[in-house]
Amino acid sequence: MSQLPPQGRSVEEILTEIANWKSRDMDSEGGRLWSLVYYHSPEVLRLAQEVYARYISENALNPLAFPSLRRMENEVVSIVKELMHCPTEGGGTMTSGGTESIFLALKAARDFAQERKPHLSHPEIIAPLSAHPAFDKAAHYLGLKMIHTPLASDGSADVEAIEAAISERTILLVASAPSYPHGVMDPIPQIAELAQKRGLLFHVDACIGGLILPFLERLDIEVPSYDFRVAGVTSLSVDLHKYGYAPKGASVILYRHKALRRYQFFVYGRWPGGLYASSTFAGTRSAGAIASSWAILQYLGEKGLTDAARIAWETAKYIQSAVLKLPSLYIVGKPIATIFAIGAHPPVDIYKVGDALAQRKWFLDRQQRPASLHLTVTAGHARIAQSFINDLSEVVKIEESQAKRRGWYRKISRQALKTGLTILPERWVRSLARWISRTADVTQPPKRTAALYGMMSALPQKDSVEKLVEEFLDKALDN
Ligand SMILES: *Cc1c(COP(=O)(O)O)cnc(C)c1O
Repeated sequence: MSQLPPQGRSVEEILTEIANWKSRDMDSEGGRLWSLVYYHSPEVLRLAQEVYARYISENALNPLAFPSLRRMENEVVSIVKELMHCPTEGGGTMTSGGTESIFLALKAARDFAQERKPHLSHPEIIAPLSAHPAFDKAAHYLGLKMIHTPLASDGSADVEAIEAAISERTILLVASAPSYPHGVMDPIPQIAELAQKRGLLFHVDACIGGLILPFLERLDIEVPSYDFRVAGVTSLSVDLHKYGYAPKGASVILYRHKALRRYQFFVYGRWPGGLYASSTFAGTRSAGAIASSWAILQYLGEKGLTDAARIAWETAKYIQSAVLKLPSLYIVGKPIATIFAIGAHPPVDIYKVGDALAQRKWFLDRQQRPASLHLTVTAGHARIAQSFINDLSEVVKIEESQAKRRGWYRKISRQALKTGLTILPERWVRSLARWISRTADVTQPPKRTAALYGMMSALPQKDSVEKLVEEFLDKALDN
């Protein structure tokens, strides 16, 4: 447990300590991480650092206090508006990320519905199972009921299932462009038509796709329709801190009409501190994220973003074709851009492939239904793609031969699957195991991750993996 140092410490000492701690973190620039980090180049990183530093103290809460910031936010929104073919009467704001953009789209939809149908109780939104959990989270916060619809066999939203789920209470339909887990595009024109026919709002989640799809189109790569060119799309989210290569804390929410955007604002007039007006969820807003998003868009320009999209696309295709040469592996669904998931045919266990890759310092997120490993390919991955493929091929060969000799593991993995534990990221599993071995009096936690899953599945009195993870979060935020 840490304490406030009675005397301040020296800058040198602090920086040394951080460097020391950081050396054990995952490396955000080396390309061995296939999620969380969107790395472009040292130049983009330096520019972002420089501009962020210049705006480290400013606050974007009040748009009138710092005209330079307001100008940058408006320009970023305008640029994204144009990329998404948002009509001029449309509008948006910058937010702190995809979750906030989605939250605001749901809040606007809720308040819009409340005004039009004041007697509507228990409003519902409909989203395919593949939609990002940010929708579930926002619905939870806003008192909306989430209805999840099943997916078609290619992993995209099933339009008939959406139609069947629509009721008097429905206020919003949702689709992804593309979905995060499998990089699959939902049939947005058909869902939009349905929304129009039933008089519903329709949000397209282009958080991950919004700053790569327009540039793939410029490269004549086929991209199904997804943006405001599709009549019936009423709002859309685009993250700058993903394929816009901006520092964390930058996203854009757009509405087809400014009148709809109005419903996301919050104004309170009776506070002794004065009139309080806030356009987004956050109060105080990071100016650094806004300013560096603007700077990176200016630096890369259309050409730079198109080049980055091309490199990421070619790298993704290169890895996919190598994966398809390994008969034990397959690509889940039909990914359309640069994010995709790798599954394995039995008896090969894709989570074991993930374990073995982690031992070689490649970090891929685990997914479920189906069991798979996730890859977000960015321009920064081009230089390490070949060495990743080499390791993947080796690891899969080893796993193929081990899978044959492995009867015992199946029992464990079935048990572990039952509790859903195999889905936890490898690092979580390790700390979780350490924690369990302390609380449950197990002497030495096993080193191999796959064995840990077996151990944890034996934990008593945990009715769901959610409860267990909740407890773990509580422990991890040990303060
Ligand atoms: C990342 C992502 C989100 C959530 O965005 P955050 O920036 O993590 O809050 C939502 N939808 C999709 C498709 C995403 O990829």
